[in-house]
Amino acid sequence: MNLSQAIEHRIFQVIQAEAQKLGVEVYVIGGFVRDLILGRPNTDIDFVANMHGVELARNAAKALGIKKIDIFKTYGTAHFRFGEWDLEFVNARKESYSRESRNPQVEQGTLQDDQNRRDFTINAMAISLQSENFGEVIDPFGGLDDLEKKILRTPLDPDITYSDDPLRMMRAVRFANQLHFRIEEESFDAIKRNAERLNIVSMERITTELNKIILCAKPSIGFKILFDTGLLHRFFPEMVRLHGVEKRNGIAHKDNFYHTLQVLDNLCETSDNLWLRWSAIMHDIAKPPTKRFEEGVGWTFHGHEDVGARWVPKIFGRLKLPLDHSMKFVQKMVLLHLRPIALTKEEISDSAIRRLLFEAGDDIDELMKLCRADITSKNEAKVQRYLANYEIVVQKLIELEEKDRVRNFQPPISGEDIMRIFNLSPGREIGIIKNAIKDAILDGVIRNDYDEAYAFMLQQAQSLGLKVES
Ligand code: ATP
Ligand code: MG
Repeated sequence: MNLSQAIEHRIFQVIQAEAQKLGVEVYVIGGFVRDLILGRPNTDIDFVANMHGVELARNAAKALGIKKIDIFKTYGTAHFRFGEWDLEFVNARKESYSRESRNPQVEQGTLQDDQNRRDFTINAMAISLQSENFGEVIDPFGGLDDLEKKILRTPLDPDITYSDDPLRMMRAVRFANQLHFRIEEESFDAIKRNAERLNIVSMERITTELNKIILCAKPSIGFKILFDTGLLHRFFPEMVRLHGVEKRNGIAHKDNFYHTLQVLDNLCETSDNLWLRWSAIMHDIAKPPTKRFEEGVGWTFHGHEDVGARWVPKIFGRLKLPLDHSMKFVQKMVLLHLRPIALTKEEISDSAIRRLLFEAGDDIDELMKLCRADITSKNEAKVQRYLANYEIVVQKLIELEEKDRVRNFQPPISGEDIMRIFNLSPGREIGIIKNAIKDAILDGVIRNDYDEAYAFMLQQAQSLGLKVES
C-alpha cells in the first residue's frame, strides 16, 4: 500500500528533505498511520529516525519556522507543535524488559526493532518518507489485514508482550472499545493469564486508560472486557462485587453490574461529562453491603446512596482520580440519585421539590440526566410508570425554580446579620436560627424575602430567649 496521496501536507515534504540532508532515514509510525488508514482524525504524528532524531527535529522545526521545541536529552526525543499538529521525534529503539518494571532497558535499534516493541499490529505500521519509496506502508506483522478484520493482535507472543508491559492490556481494552475491534483469542487468553501483572503498573496510567474507556460512546463494551479478563478485579473490586444475582423465595434482584453498565450507556447518549459518567458508575456501588431480604417486601438496599457517597473519596483516592470539586460532584450525584423518583412515591409536594433544588443547586440538570438514565427495567409497564413520574418531577422543578429561585438559594438573612441584630458572638444559636429560616422558606411557610424572614426570625429568637439589640 502507498499512502503518498494521504500525506501531501507540507510537514511530510519538509521532514523528508531535512532527513535527506542529514543522511538519516525517517518514518511516520504508530497511531497516526493506523488512524490515517481508518479515516479517523488524529493530529499527533510520531516520527522515528534510524539516528539523529533530535537534530532532525531541530532542523525540521527551523525549516517550518518554529522556534519553540522541547528536547528530552535522556530519552533522545524531541517534540514541537506546528499549528494544530503535535510532532514527536524519536530514534528507533530496541527494548528489553525486566520482571519488576514496565520501563525497559533501551538501546539504539533498527526500524524493525522499533516495530517489534509496539503493542498491536495495527499500531506497528510505518510509512516511509524516503524519496525512493515515499508513502509506502511498512507492515511487517499484517496490521493492514488486522485493520480490515478489525482485530487487535500483538506483533510478538502475547504472553511476553503483556507481561513485559502490562499497561498494554488496558490499551487493548481501550482500543477494542474505541475502534469496535475484537481482541483476538490468543491475546484475550494471554490477558486473562497476565491480569495479575497489572500490579506493576502505576495507578495513574491505569486510570488514564480507564477514563478513555469511560469517554467512549458505549463504555459497557470496555467494562465487560475488563470484567471477563479479570483486569477489573485488579483495581476496582467494588464494581466487580456488583456482579451476580441472588434469589430467595423465588425472588431475584437484578444484576447490578449489568444494570450499572446499562445506566452508563444510557447516560452516554445524553452527556459527555466524564464526572457525570463516573457518577453513573458509582451510583449503586454500595448495593452489595446494604442488601437485605425482607419478608413480604423482597430485596432492599436501604442507605446504599449514603454509603456509596461515603465511598467516593476512598475509591477516587485509590484510583488516583482528583479529590477536588469533581469528586464532590460525584459524591453529590450518588447521594441524591434516588431523590427525583422517590419524590413521586408520595404526593409531590412543593416543599420536597424545593429541598431537592436547594440540595442539588446548579447540578440539578445533571442529576436529572443521571436519574433519567437510571430508569431501566425489563418490565415495560414499570419503565413507563417511572418515565411518567420523571416527567412530572421535571415539570415541577421548572415551575418552582421559576417561581422561587431556590436553585442558588442564599438565605435572605446571613449569619453575620443574626450576630449583629442580637449582639451575639459566634455560637450554636446562629446556626439554629439560620436553619429555621432556611427550612421555613423551603417548606413554604414564608417567602424568600427579607421582611418575612425578619419577622420569622424574631419569633424564633423569642423562643430561644434572645432580644433584639437596640
Ligand atoms: P492514542 O493517541 O489515541 O492514545 P496511539 O496508538 O497513538 O493512540 P499513543 O499512546 O499516542 O497511542 O502511542 C503512540 C504509539 O506508540 C502507539 O501507536 C504504539 O505504536 C506505541 N505505544 C504506545 N504505548 C505503548 C505501549 N505501552 N507498548 C507498546 N507500544 C506502545
Ligand atoms: Mg497518539
